[in-house]
Amino acid sequence: MAKKQFKTESKRMLDMMINSVYTNREIFLRELISNASDAIDKLAYLSLTDPSVGLSREDFKITLTVDKAARTLTVSDNGIGMTAEELENNLGVIARSGSLEFKKEHAEELKEDTVGIIGQFGVGFYSAFMVASKVQVLSKKYGEEGASLWESSGGDGYTVKPASKDSVGTDVVLYIREDVEDESYGMFLESYELRRIVKKYSDYIRYPILTDVERTRRVEGSDSEKPEFEKYTETETLNSMIPLWRRNKSEVTDEEINEFYRDNYYDAEPPLKVIRIDAEGLVSFKAMLFIPASLPHGYYTKDFEKGLQLYSGGVMIIDRCAELLPEHFRFVKGVVESDDLSLNISRELLQQDKQLRVIAQNIEKRIKRELKKMLDEEKETYERFFKLFGIQLKYGLVSDFGIHKETLSDLLIYHTSRGGEQVTLEKYVETMPAEQKYIYYACGESLEKVESLPQTEKLRQKGFDIVYMTDEIDEFAVEMLGSVGDKSFKNVSRDDLELESEDEREQTKQSNELNRELLDFIKETLGVSAVRMSSRLVTHPVCLTSDGQITLEMEKYFAAMPGENHPKAERVLELNGDHRVFGLIKDAVLSDMELAAKYARLLYGQALLIAGFPLDDPAGYCELVCDLL
Ligand code: ADP
Repeated sequence: MAKKQFKTESKRMLDMMINSVYTNREIFLRELISNASDAIDKLAYLSLTDPSVGLSREDFKITLTVDKAARTLTVSDNGIGMTAEELENNLGVIARSGSLEFKKEHAEELKEDTVGIIGQFGVGFYSAFMVASKVQVLSKKYGEEGASLWESSGGDGYTVKPASKDSVGTDVVLYIREDVEDESYGMFLESYELRRIVKKYSDYIRYPILTDVERTRRVEGSDSEKPEFEKYTETETLNSMIPLWRRNKSEVTDEEINEFYRDNYYDAEPPLKVIRIDAEGLVSFKAMLFIPASLPHGYYTKDFEKGLQLYSGGVMIIDRCAELLPEHFRFVKGVVESDDLSLNISRELLQQDKQLRVIAQNIEKRIKRELKKMLDEEKETYERFFKLFGIQLKYGLVSDFGIHKETLSDLLIYHTSRGGEQVTLEKYVETMPAEQKYIYYACGESLEKVESLPQTEKLRQKGFDIVYMTDEIDEFAVEMLGSVGDKSFKNVSRDDLELESEDEREQTKQSNELNRELLDFIKETLGVSAVRMSSRLVTHPVCLTSDGQITLEMEKYFAAMPGENHPKAERVLELNGDHRVFGLIKDAVLSDMELAAKYARLLYGQALLIAGFPLDDPAGYCELVCDLL
């Protein structure tokens, strides 16, 4: 039979495995056992609703069989099995799994750092070639008549042909390589080694992993002076079968948890936080949840799918159960197991399940509590978390008409003009100067930009504290929050900051009246909504603010969205009456209107740039500057 060639990317993976200098070859067993367990999961799930499967939970098993003479190790399962076509598709190319996505993304690194990557991530079926010179996969799919045999000796391709097999499931036969000088592959044929490897990597697999072990015993009735011994074989279960989330907290090491997390969620970094729930009550369930320390693949895209793995009765029911997590905590990964779920219904129905909603509510509360605790007790860790997922919390706050406000508002932290660590708004209000009446906030693209906004000058002079906001969503979140306790918000680039005494207020009013003609002239020249004498400035000549609902930052936010006719802010140019430049423009209006108009455009350009807006006509602006020089 003609050999078929592996697809290019698979071939590369395969070459990597065959030529691997990796010392940790033993992980091939973890990979094959994990595949076997997945295959059993699938059939076990079917058997819940389809009695014709004829197997019950206790019948499922994974068997390791050694034939020392033939130098083979066989990993067998009575799972779902594969058709000839599936053998071809699944083993001829690297599967379309999470690990593949990872492998693709890191193709370059893979080439360079095989050792590191293999150590960190599942490498799948192909890892068999690290220890075997030839691999056969004999498989019979559930519901099919015949069986098929896939065979490959590595680089030169593979064959698939019809075969016979009594029972449903898959046997993966590894022809273990010959020992070489510094490498004993023969160890993979020893039952004590297999036991060690299974304990190390696959202990929590929920189906028994069985192997025949040869033991010695005293022949019954033999002389106690001169005892006789005989050999016999016994089938041993190598794994404890208790999944991590079912084991007592004290029995599970951090290392085991991190390893579990890494293998299941393809994240090289250990999680920031592990949350264990053991709930008894209306619905009992156990959960092991993880808050990642790095952004999950494609996290802030619409392709990202949230969800937790849902188990019941030791069987995985749904791989990614979205209903278990609210949108605002969609970064959480992990497993939930509840034996209380009504299982004899389809997945669709299960999703409607009331019990599921109870679990989801409980989970949400617990995540909230753990995050709050992290914020109070492990500030540094929380800041790492917030850097990754703070925006998610803010989006959560503004979504669904603000119904998550209570859950999320005290999880938000901000930089402030005091510098130092980020604080919650409650903390900010608690520590702001006694004479400060409002929560002042300033928005912009970066801390540096916000810090240098002229709009904040007067506030700083008074020693007031300003909240810095640098995410697009921030202002929407402020709108949703409305106030913190009895303190309301004031946007330094929009609102009346109420910084003046009655007298000063009167003065500004008069100054606006006195300069009415000048202000109107500038307004006409620039085509802005208003021009005013400012009460926010100290050393700067001008600044840009806005009237109405749409703020300057909102305008930028909308402008970045696709489409046209985005809402725009009503722009206001504010002038500092105490600045030397104000005198210049005032004089110019009296003597040379054209010059006055140039000054106005020059100052407006400045205000735009500082506020982070592009100039309408940069070339014209440069010309103007040269002209005035
Ligand atoms: P992964 O497990 O990451 O998907 P693998 O290369 O290990 O990648 O396996 C490829 C695919 O082959 C699996 O996704 C599965 O569909 C199938 N497969 C592997 N081993 C078995 C098995 N023992 N029984 C049934 N299907 C299997």
